[in-house]
Amino acid sequence: MPTDNQPKSPSPAPPTTSGAAPAPAGTDFIRQIVAADLASDLAAGRPPRTIVTRFPPEPNGYLHIGHAKAICLNFTVAAENGGRCHLRMDDTNPSKEDVEYVDSITQDVRWLGFDWGEHFYHAADYFERLYLFAEELIANGKAFVCDLDAEQMREYRGTLTQPGRESPWRGRSVQENLDLFRRMRAGEFAGGARTLRARIDMASPNIVMRDPVIYRIQHSSHHRSGDKWCIYPMYDFAHCLSDAIEGITHSLCTLEFVPNRALYDWVLDQVDLSALPSRPRQIEFARLNLTNTVMSKRTLRLLVEEGRVSGWDDPRMPTICGMRRRGYTPASIRAFCESIGIARSDNLVQFAQLEFCVRDDLNRSAPRVMGVLRPLKVVIENYPEGRVEHLDAVNNPEDPGAGTRKVPFSRELYIEREDFQEDPPKKFFRLAPGREVRLRYGYFITCTGVVKNDAGEITELRCTYDPATTGGNAPDGRKVKATLHWVSAAHALSAEVRLYNQLFTRENPARVEEGGSVFDCLNPNSLELNTETKLEPSLASAAPGQTFQFERMGYFTVDPDSRAGALVLNRTATLKDEWANVLRRGGAG
Ligand code: ATP
Ligand code: MG
Repeated sequence: MPTDNQPKSPSPAPPTTSGAAPAPAGTDFIRQIVAADLASDLAAGRPPRTIVTRFPPEPNGYLHIGHAKAICLNFTVAAENGGRCHLRMDDTNPSKEDVEYVDSITQDVRWLGFDWGEHFYHAADYFERLYLFAEELIANGKAFVCDLDAEQMREYRGTLTQPGRESPWRGRSVQENLDLFRRMRAGEFAGGARTLRARIDMASPNIVMRDPVIYRIQHSSHHRSGDKWCIYPMYDFAHCLSDAIEGITHSLCTLEFVPNRALYDWVLDQVDLSALPSRPRQIEFARLNLTNTVMSKRTLRLLVEEGRVSGWDDPRMPTICGMRRRGYTPASIRAFCESIGIARSDNLVQFAQLEFCVRDDLNRSAPRVMGVLRPLKVVIENYPEGRVEHLDAVNNPEDPGAGTRKVPFSRELYIEREDFQEDPPKKFFRLAPGREVRLRYGYFITCTGVVKNDAGEITELRCTYDPATTGGNAPDGRKVKATLHWVSAAHALSAEVRLYNQLFTRENPARVEEGGSVFDCLNPNSLELNTETKLEPSLASAAPGQTFQFERMGYFTVDPDSRAGALVLNRTATLKDEWANVLRRGGAG
């Protein structure tokens, strides 16, 4: 909503985060651990190790803002210590993965501003080595081939309060296990018929340690290894060994992996790592949760597949590609990830904090233009018909180097409907009958009359202008209380503008009620199409991806759907936190 005052500085304090306050960037517990490890090398008289981290997405969906947090953490912790960060496709599950996702992931990480150099890896490329590690476990009596099916295995597993029972196949000899495992690899058995399990402890209080499956049979093609394999390693087996193979020093992951750390370490303890560069260490941090947003890839995929959004890059999606299309900048996403810090316990971050970072960055970089979203025609009766003046407009008050442009002014203009009230309440300072206001970069105008249609709706305003107020100031020093943006009617470009609101009305949509679905709180008004917008003509050459500040109205980015003569823009962000007001009024659910 337009405000009477021009936005001067965008810098109210950023909204705060709920939950445990994370440490400021640079001093969080992960950086402390890394610093302590380097210090211990020095103390022991060793050369300090090279810090190596990795970002290990599973290529089964598009990256989202939660991944951005992990990406920023891994790449910056490595860079701060002169180390490196690998990009590794954690592609051990053939059924849900695809090269489409691999391509989008690399594009998104690069777009965020990070560079993995030559360190681009695939867990699938380690299948042979992982297989040999599995044989090593078998040879050491630490793994066995089990014939229980999935349901029996669940039964044997026990519960949080009850220990599990040992599989009847647990006592197979090393020789029999090796033979069966090789035949599993050779494709002799049907999918799911047998598994390879670690031989640990069925009575462990940590269920993850109750003889977990480390290989399963699955006769499906893999997007990278093709039909070479019909047995695939499980995450807990593949991940720690992939880390060790690559010489990862600090394997940073989210809190849900705390119970898996015991297995991570167990596997590394059982095999000979002496030929490998390092023994990695798993450290968990809190995942990012954002208000009114879901981050589960499964739910995001459903939104796409059920057509509830236009695709993975729908500007309402929390995906990196959606945010890019919406006009969020890499710098603003990085600034956001830094601002939320790294904590050890889960919290919920306000979406407004992300928008704050977006506005803060765009305020510096986005050129200003005038655009009227809900036009109301103004006829300046004492302005000569056919005359056009080209007024100087400032491109960006935050950037003196951005210069000025010419904006045409003529007898017929559009202003924003909500900038006029026929019967204004006390605190309304904008245009009203008999009242004088300033047109941005132009003249003072005074409203002299109102034209209505048969339904009594205002269709046009009649005004006069004061030719002496050129440049926006009155020579006699008289003041006006409002400055309005406007567009010359004869020169205006028409555009389709897509106005976005939150996709979910509930603060924490992931917390679904009994029998409910996350889609129960889908916001029916998350997309509002505006086809009446009028823009100043300088936007005629605007290209997809360019972002502008429409003065007083917010930030808007040209959408790839745009065609010459048919502009389409996405609202990137409002100038102020309008959504908070909508929620406060109870308007959206
Ligand atoms: P899935 O639901 O398929 O397990 P995932 O979101 O965990 O999805 P991965 O591809 O396994 O996706 O994630 C890659 C990395 O990103 C992991 O290290 C994971 O811990 C991290 N990550 C995922 N979601 C978040 C989040 N919301 N906040 C911070 N890090 C995240
Ligand atoms: Mg995961």
